[in-house]
Amino acid sequence: MGIIDRRRRRAVLVVAVVAAVLIFVADALSPIDGAVAVLYTGVVLMVAPLGRKFIVVAGYISAVLALTAFLWGHASDLVGGALLRLVVSLVAILITVLLSMRDRSARISLAEQVRILEASHDTVIIRDSAGIVRYWNEGAERLYGRSRDQAIGRHYAELFDESAPVDEIDRSMREAGSWSGEVVRTRRDGARLILASRWLQRRDPEGRAIGVIEASADLTESRRAQAEQRRSERRYSTIFNSAGFAALECDLSDALSLVLSAGADVAASLRADPALLAAAVERIVICEANPAALEMFDADGPGELIVAELLAFSIPDARQALETIFVALTTGSTQIETETRFITRRGRTIDAVLRLSVLPDGTDWSRVLLMAVDVTERNEARTKIERISAELAHAGRVSVLGQLAASIAHEVNQPLAAIINYGKSGKRWLVRPTSDIGEVAECLDKIVSNANRAAEVVGRVRFLARKSAPLTDSVDLVVMLQDAIELLRREIHSVKATVRVELSTPIAMIDCDRVQVQQVFVNLLMNALQAMRGIDGHRQILVRIEDSGDSLTVAVCDTGVGIAGDPARIFEPFFSTKSDGMGLGLSICRTIIEGQGGQILASNNDGPGATVAFTLLRNNPDEGRHNRRLIS
Ligand code: ADP
Repeated sequence: MGIIDRRRRRAVLVVAVVAAVLIFVADALSPIDGAVAVLYTGVVLMVAPLGRKFIVVAGYISAVLALTAFLWGHASDLVGGALLRLVVSLVAILITVLLSMRDRSARISLAEQVRILEASHDTVIIRDSAGIVRYWNEGAERLYGRSRDQAIGRHYAELFDESAPVDEIDRSMREAGSWSGEVVRTRRDGARLILASRWLQRRDPEGRAIGVIEASADLTESRRAQAEQRRSERRYSTIFNSAGFAALECDLSDALSLVLSAGADVAASLRADPALLAAAVERIVICEANPAALEMFDADGPGELIVAELLAFSIPDARQALETIFVALTTGSTQIETETRFITRRGRTIDAVLRLSVLPDGTDWSRVLLMAVDVTERNEARTKIERISAELAHAGRVSVLGQLAASIAHEVNQPLAAIINYGKSGKRWLVRPTSDIGEVAECLDKIVSNANRAAEVVGRVRFLARKSAPLTDSVDLVVMLQDAIELLRREIHSVKATVRVELSTPIAMIDCDRVQVQQVFVNLLMNALQAMRGIDGHRQILVRIEDSGDSLTVAVCDTGVGIAGDPARIFEPFFSTKSDGMGLGLSICRTIIEGQGGQILASNNDGPGATVAFTLLRNNPDEGRHNRRLIS
């Protein structure tokens, strides 16, 4: 109770007490011979709004005071007219008390009803028979955007535009005294409202119609949501039916409850009981299938599609796919993708990629959209590609063997030419008038060493062809370079070139195949000499060996004609710009270097000529693997 209420109550009580005292004094002391005590009813009525307790207390005190005044004023004459007046007064007080109490409970229940109307979310409007609004609850204030003061006293048609079945309402109100149905009202701000309305006829005690009580609920939002849902269902079914891929709507709820009944760990249950999976699949129901799905499975209608019959259960992939689906769904996934194999109604076997989506209104797995893409052709193409790749690999091996055969000719050619030259030269020393046995012996030594080199090359190629692991020696690249220069001494001399060696380390030890790397040195030096043969300027080969700890780099830099076009092309097999060239030297060099886990590159110099450089790794973990690949 607020402060103002408390003050009012106190004031009422004070006035009531004063009034009671005055009535008592008038009753007891005044000579008036009337039923003054009847005035106590006024005191009761005065305190009536304060509550039942006050009414009863006021009635009681009034009765006591009336009785006291009577006894005081009429002690000598207890029977007679005064007694009758007292009785009338007491009865009047009693009736007032009773009526006040009844009035109070009626008021309370009325106030409660008004509160209920106020609290209602619906709009409640009471209008009289002329259509003037007499009551307008909070719901109406909210919905129509008009306060009670703005609405009460105005004709209801001024407050909104209404479209309602007027004739039907009139008839129903006349005949049944009520009507319920839908009305559409447009608020003054233009908002269109759809209302579920119930109208009741108001009647006076004589039964005459005196207006309408109208309660309405706003359906606008739910109607909009329903319309949106219908639109989205239509959109979904259009997409579903016109999709170019197979789409099926399935009910997996029974299947999954069966799986879950076997234990929460679905993966373990399925592993433990192989029959469980089959039993669960039996319970999958295909509810809808789009035309693409019917075509894919060679069916005429969704009723013909039974998952258990379609699944090629015999293959492990299908079991695996199903397990994946069940486990994923029961662990909360709503999107799953997997691949499996089906057998169509006509017995065709198809591979399909499946994509499952749990639809929003089917979270109990009762609506699962299953999209299937036929990947049979893709898989066949993949198998074909794998077969072709295998054939290509085989062809590649054959071509490597061809390269090896050609390399024998190429590599053996140089020692053979040297043998011929040294043979001729030895003969010249012999047939001289004064033959020089020392020179002849030296020529014979060179012949033997070149023949040995040729034999080594042939032996190594045979060794490779036998698919044996390459020989790995610890060799010094500096020594190997000097040997190669020595071997090509005559060519260097005939080209009138100089060879300069720059070493970052006096000894460059590395584990590699000695004969193969020697071949690389000889090839690079020979190419450099040949590139400088036709030029006029200074002919110099600079060989740099750099040791970076993890690797050794050998760069052969010449002042020749340089590389025409893309330098990377010179490593391609059979690429040659020489009339007598085979175009195999550098291709073999690359195979050898990469076989040792290294790298070989070519580039043109800033000045004249080109540089071909290779790098070999120390402690190369791949060593040997590349060699095996080369010859496999
Ligand atoms: P071939 O020597 O039989 O031609 P290679 O594989 O050794 O085969 O060389 C391929 C081609 O690379 C050569 O014909 C030449 O055009 C080019 N080439 C190689 N080394 C050099 C170099 N140092 N300078 C310029 N061109 C080169």
